[in-house]
Order: sequence, then structure tokens, then C-alpha cells
Amino acid sequence: MALIVQKYGGSSVGTVERIQAVAQRVQATVAIGHSVVVVVSAMGKTTDGLVKLAADITDQPSRREMDMLLSTGEQVSIALLTMALQALGQEAISLTGAQVGIVTEAEHTRARILEIKTERLQRHLKEGKVIVVAGFQGISETSDLEITTLGRGGSDTSAVALAAALQAETCEIYTDVPGILTTDPRLVPEAQLMDEITSDEMLELASLGAKVLHPRAVEIARNYGVTLVVRSSWTDQPGTRVISPRPQPRPLEGLELAQPVDAVEFDTDQAKVALLRIPDRPGIAARLFGELATQALNVDLIIQSIHEGNTNDIAFTLVKANLTRAEAVAAAIAPALRNNLADTTQAEVMVDQRMAKISIAGAGMIGRPGVAAKMFSSLAAAGINIQLISTSEVKVSCTIDVDDCDRAIRVLCDAFEVTSSPRPQGHTGANAAAPVVRGAALDTQQAQIAIRHVPDRPGMAARIFQLLATHGVSVDMIIQSQRCRLVRGQATRDIAFTVAQADAPTAKAVVEAAAAELNLGDVAVDDAIAKVSVVGTGMIDAPGVAARMFKALSEQGINLKMIATSEIKISCVVAEDEGITALRAVHNAFGLAGLTRTVVHV
Ligand code: ADP
Ligand code: ASP
Ligand code: MG
Repeated sequence: MALIVQKYGGSSVGTVERIQAVAQRVQATVAIGHSVVVVVSAMGKTTDGLVKLAADITDQPSRREMDMLLSTGEQVSIALLTMALQALGQEAISLTGAQVGIVTEAEHTRARILEIKTERLQRHLKEGKVIVVAGFQGISETSDLEITTLGRGGSDTSAVALAAALQAETCEIYTDVPGILTTDPRLVPEAQLMDEITSDEMLELASLGAKVLHPRAVEIARNYGVTLVVRSSWTDQPGTRVISPRPQPRPLEGLELAQPVDAVEFDTDQAKVALLRIPDRPGIAARLFGELATQALNVDLIIQSIHEGNTNDIAFTLVKANLTRAEAVAAAIAPALRNNLADTTQAEVMVDQRMAKISIAGAGMIGRPGVAAKMFSSLAAAGINIQLISTSEVKVSCTIDVDDCDRAIRVLCDAFEVTSSPRPQGHTGANAAAPVVRGAALDTQQAQIAIRHVPDRPGMAARIFQLLATHGVSVDMIIQSQRCRLVRGQATRDIAFTVAQADAPTAKAVVEAAAAELNLGDVAVDDAIAKVSVVGTGMIDAPGVAARMFKALSEQGINLKMIATSEIKISCVVAEDEGITALRAVHNAFGLAGLTRTVVHV
């Protein structure tokens, strides 16, 4: 007999009939001898409805009252599901987050779970009862015992946290699609079901817009080695397994407060090639990286950022041994890269062998403002200048002067209290034949902010991102460009980043307020962006993945506004109205589309 945690999302409990169907499924699990803890979301679109009610009253509802309001949705569904179980003759009891003792930080609307008390759960399980727990909610650790919520989509996180705390055999997430698919089937009906995915890949996908799992749920599953399965509540198909490497044992206190950073990684065997002042039009990146792929040159980081006038810069890194060949490729195509024959701007190729790449990695940085800022300020305090910056959801990478590398490792290990490793870690758990691209995702909820003419000296990125963190703005993708410009005799670089659209006005105001003191140029916001990404562990060693993605986009005439990569993902920012076309093109280009259309339940 095993203990199983089952979570049913909003659409799985959207009607009385659905609640009764769920009750039967739960009862069937009990009938084969298992103990079951069920976590449920609010019925259907209840939470959206409550958000709308609040918005009809005020555009600035207090976060405490939002929690008071939204937590009611789950209280309805736990009671109804429990009644449905009892009507089947199954002993059951419903419990709110507070009644269980799901203790969280006092951060309303985005609380992290600190601890889950298991005494009452164990007692009811011993009594042979099914326990139906309200997802998405908890109770603060403060003496006032405030009701908190975990953030939209947070019931997944409640379920996996309960599974970790109870050492359940499996955590099953039941939803309205057959499992985790190669992309969102509502946008690309040909998306295909995967049998399995690594937690590293799923973490990236979930943070890049695949809302089938809350990223924090994946983080907990990875940290505690919870067996996690996503499947349909409509069928008996096995669904998708999320595979984690066996974790180091860790305490259950501070459950979601694990260190934000697991490791400091560095690589001194890389060199950088930058193409400056290339035309800003579709097809340029495809051509450059297509050429590099033809020569089997595997690139690591790729960074393209905002541009002034009608030119762009693209920089990439690769192992030093390949530098000469890569430089030759870049130099050979540079003269052909002009807007038109009359154009006198010359693309310029720059190489740098004296660089090191240094990264901080860890799933705990997701949605936690200030981690990148801490990295930048630690480097700044040691007088280390940052050249390029590229971030993913679970990693921040900077290139620095190779002579600074040892010092950088030391200060970062001190700052984040971790050890260093020369090679990226955490990619274990994938089987040897890991696909180059496992899945694709689209995020249309972000805005791009560009700061021009940031003085090129240690500490600037640190100041800017520290300020944003202090104002609670969580920054997503950060890109610092290659090009240096002299502005009033001072070398400057541009920095661009993306934030949630809702945070864009605050982010702009915060940076503008500091512009005079920090000597920054204009701050521009672009709301009409979409981020399209591909993720796959196999891309680490496969040349040509970026080239294939850029080619697919250029064939649709789509221009790239920003590019940022990590070892296992490539993200491109494009115009918002091209987002879905971009996602379909990329999904097709990697052969992810199948012939069958995936059924999505409504
Ligand atoms: P629930 O209410 O069960 O938590 P959600 O709406 O939060 O369900 O998540 C399921 C939805 O996630 C699917 O209906 C689908 O539209 C979307 N989705 C986005 N990306 C993916 C993906 N890669 N695989 C499966 N579903 C996805
Ligand atoms: N009901 C909450 C929401 O819609 C939590 C969840 O469904 O996971 O965000
Ligand atoms: Mg969900």
C-alpha cells in the first residue's frame, strides 16, 4: 500500500459531473489499496472571476484582501469533492491550508511554503480517510496567522510540497490535456505528448510560458526527488513523467526557501566572437549561425540585444579551439551584410580570447527578485567588470576578463554559500539519447525594457538590478550587449531586460528616477513582444540548433529583437503579433509536430 498525492486542476473539477468523476477516480485508487491525499483547485475559471470582481471595485486591491478573496475558490471545491466522496461511501475529510498547517512566508499573493505539518494528515490517513486539501493557499508563520496564497497556478506547488512532506510514493497532477506536450496544444494542435521530460527541461519550459506545471512545483520535485506525473483526468493514459536525478537529502524545514543558487560554474576555455553593426532585418542570424553549423561549429552563448538606428550586434561564445574557424566564417559573411548597396556601414568582427564565462545556477532564483543583482554587486565589489550578460530562468551567465575568473569564483561562492564546479551540473537524469529539442514555449506576458548608454564600469548592472529588486520587480531575461559607445567621452553599453507586463511601469519609473544619478540614457519600454523558446538537454553537444531555429523564423519573415541562450534553451524576442506564427514555425522546424491533434478539454 502506497501513499499517493493526486492534484486536480480547475477544469477537472469545473462542474458537478466532473467533481463526481474525480471522486470515482479517487475511490478507485483507494480500492486498489492506496492511501490518497487529494489537492484541488478552484472550480473552472472561479479564480479569474474573483480577480475580475476585485478589479471592478478597485484597480489597486490590497494583496492581503486578494488572498482573502481568492482562497475562497478552493474552499468551495474541497467541500464539494468531499461530499461527492462521502456520497460514494468513501470516508473523507476536507481541510483548508490553515487546517493542515501549510505554513508560508507572510508575503501575500506570492508566498513560499516554509513547512507542512503532517500530524493531522497522518492521523486522518490512519483513520482510513481520504483527505481533500485546498491547493494554492497557506497560513503565515506570523502570530496573526494570515491566510496567504502561493501565486496563480500554485495548486501544483501545494501538491508536490505535500508529496515531499509526506514522502508520498507519487504525485499525480491531473489536468485537461493528456500530459506534458511538445508545446501548448491550444496554440499548436499538432503538439505531441511526451513520455518523459527531465526536471531541468521542465523547469525552463514552465518558466518560459508552459503553464501546464507551476515552475515552483518542478523545483520542489527536483529538490526532494518527488516522483511527478502529469496526466489527463478524462482518460487512463499514463501521461508524462518528470524525471529528477536523485537529490542530496535535505531538511523539510524551509521547504521552498532552499538556497536560490546551487552552484557557481565557470569555463575558461571559451572565446567570444562579436559582429557589430549588422543590419536589423530577418535572416541575418539564420545566415551567420547556418554557416557556423555547416562547419560543425558548436556555439554556446548567443546574445543579441537592442540596437540603435537600424543595426544590431550579435555575439557568441564557443570553445577556443574553434575560434579561428568561427572568426573566418564571421569575417567572410560580414561584407555581405549591408542594408543595401549604397549603405556604407560596415559590419565589424571582433574576437576576444581573454574571456571567461562565469554563471550562477539554481531553480531557487525563479520569481525571486535580487539574485542577479547580488551576483552583479558581488562582482562589482571585487572590481570586476562584466562584459556580456545572458540569463535563463535558472541561470545568470556573464563574460568577464579571464584574469578576473579566480577572484570571481571566490566572491560568488562566498556570496551564495556554494561550491564551484567547472562544468554545468544537474543535467543528469536524462537518458543518453536526450532529444536536441524537447519542447517549445511562448510567453506573451512580458515587456522589454531597454536602457541606453549605461556607463561601462563595474557596479552599474548591480545598481540597476538592485534597485529593481528593492521595488519587488522580478527581472526575467537580461542582456547586456557587446557594443561600446562613447557618449560624452565615456564608454557606455546598452542593457535590455524583460519583466512581467504588469511590472513594466514600475520598472521604467524606478530606472528613470535613478537615471540622472547613474548617468544613464533613455529608457524605452516595448509591451508588444512575445518570447519564443526551445528547450532540450541534447542541444548542449549538438551544433546547429540555434541556426535551425533562426532559419525557421527568418523563413516566416520574422525579425529577432533579442536573443538569449543558456546551455539547454534558446529564447528569441519577436513582435507580439508574430508570436504564434513563430511558435508554430519553430515547433515544426524541430519535427515536434505530429499528425494527430491533441484533445484539449474545456
Ligand atoms: P489546471 O487547471 O489543470 O491546472 P492549467 O490551465 O493550469 O490546468 O494547465 C493546463 C494547460 O496548460 C493546458 O490546457 C494547455 O493549454 C497549457 N499548456 C501550455 N503549455 C503546455 C505544454 N507544453 N503541455 C501541455 N499543456 C500545456
Ligand atoms: N485557483 C488558482 C489559480 O487559478 C490556483 C490553481 O489553479 O493552481 O491560479
Ligand atoms: Mg494549473
